[in-house]
Amino acid sequence: MVLYPENMITTPEGTPVRQVRPKTEGWSQKKDAEGRPLLQFASPKRGKPPLHLADLTPDERIAKVKELGLPGFRANQLEKHYFTHYTHDPAAMTDLPAESREEFVHGMLPPLLTEVRRLETDRGDTIKFLWKLHDGALVESVLMRYPGRITLCVSSQAGCGMNCPFCATGQAGLTRNMSAGEIIEQIVRANRLIADGGLGGKKRDDHSADRVSNIVFMGMGEPLANYARVMQAVRVMVDKDHGLGMSARGITVSTVGLVPAIKKLADENIPVTFALSLHAPDDHLRNELIPVNSRWKVDEALDAAREYFDKTGRRVSIEYALIKDMNDHGWRADLLADKLNERGRGWVHVNPIPLNPTPGSIWTASEVSVQNEFVRRLNDAGIPTTLRDTRGKEIDGACGQLVATEADIADAAVTPAEL
Ligand code: SF4
Repeated sequence: MVLYPENMITTPEGTPVRQVRPKTEGWSQKKDAEGRPLLQFASPKRGKPPLHLADLTPDERIAKVKELGLPGFRANQLEKHYFTHYTHDPAAMTDLPAESREEFVHGMLPPLLTEVRRLETDRGDTIKFLWKLHDGALVESVLMRYPGRITLCVSSQAGCGMNCPFCATGQAGLTRNMSAGEIIEQIVRANRLIADGGLGGKKRDDHSADRVSNIVFMGMGEPLANYARVMQAVRVMVDKDHGLGMSARGITVSTVGLVPAIKKLADENIPVTFALSLHAPDDHLRNELIPVNSRWKVDEALDAAREYFDKTGRRVSIEYALIKDMNDHGWRADLLADKLNERGRGWVHVNPIPLNPTPGSIWTASEVSVQNEFVRRLNDAGIPTTLRDTRGKEIDGACGQLVATEADIADAAVTPAEL
């Protein structure tokens, strides 16, 4: 492929077309010793968050309860309060012995998230939360009501070490991994709000349960870079006796392509929905767009995704943010279709994600006709493809937009610990 100056490129048919190259706007990517975008896989050493019920297996909970001087069956009572009634309030737990209740509850359910700010859409059906963690790190989650389901987009890391040039979250690098307790607490707090009637937009004929039914790991962080804690959180989400009892199918774990971790996930025997954030079918572009591509190439990531399907029987999602003149070319849709079809039929679907129109930015939405053409080409090649809803974008809650602004940080500094 010949690269022209002036951001032009030739298609495989030899036609020159505009090619916008990925680059950061208003910030600089940290680089490694070889001058490539720095990738951070290890969490910097910071004080760990307090140990929480949700960090422990059911047996470990019983052991911890005994350590606190109570019989093991109290663990089960506490699980009910927390996972079914979404409460941390000792006053509401009248079945626990009054004399030690406060201390016991605090020991098992230490405060993890302080709400700093809440933004909601006019209809009240989408809410973005900004949370402060025990060490002051800020993370976000976004709650969305759809007909028949309620989805929560959760964060799995404070910051992110994957350094994608389009992503607000990656700018400051990885602050630290979140604990399973901190991940689960985002769901429990959302469920509490829903139970209190705080999420609007419910239609009269919607008889679905009033609690979070779907989780997407598309908030801050790369979930597979925080593998053990994310998996502990997923186990708690699906555990019917000792956790939230959610359906694994409603949980989407997405990744930019950490191949060894995808393989590990496929062996877990928990049939979560797996999403690969691909955004480009060719290494040439993807190396710049998704820096981790320098470690694991497009073909390796797609092979791992196909392996996930083979082992779990769960159809894989390919996420593809359509960016004007960068990755939205018709020939890239064809190349993507070829690469997916090479690996068989019926194992994958593609979700192109329209970006926000951002005047003056290279990170802007494709023309509608170009989006439609991209989708048409994939569908015509036999790849089920649907444009994804980008709910939340009006409150900056869409993927890649989750970052604490300076105003958020200032708010956090003056917010009293209200837990
Ligand atoms: S797009 Fe995802 S993986 Fe990339 S920096 Fe942002 S949060 Fe991390």
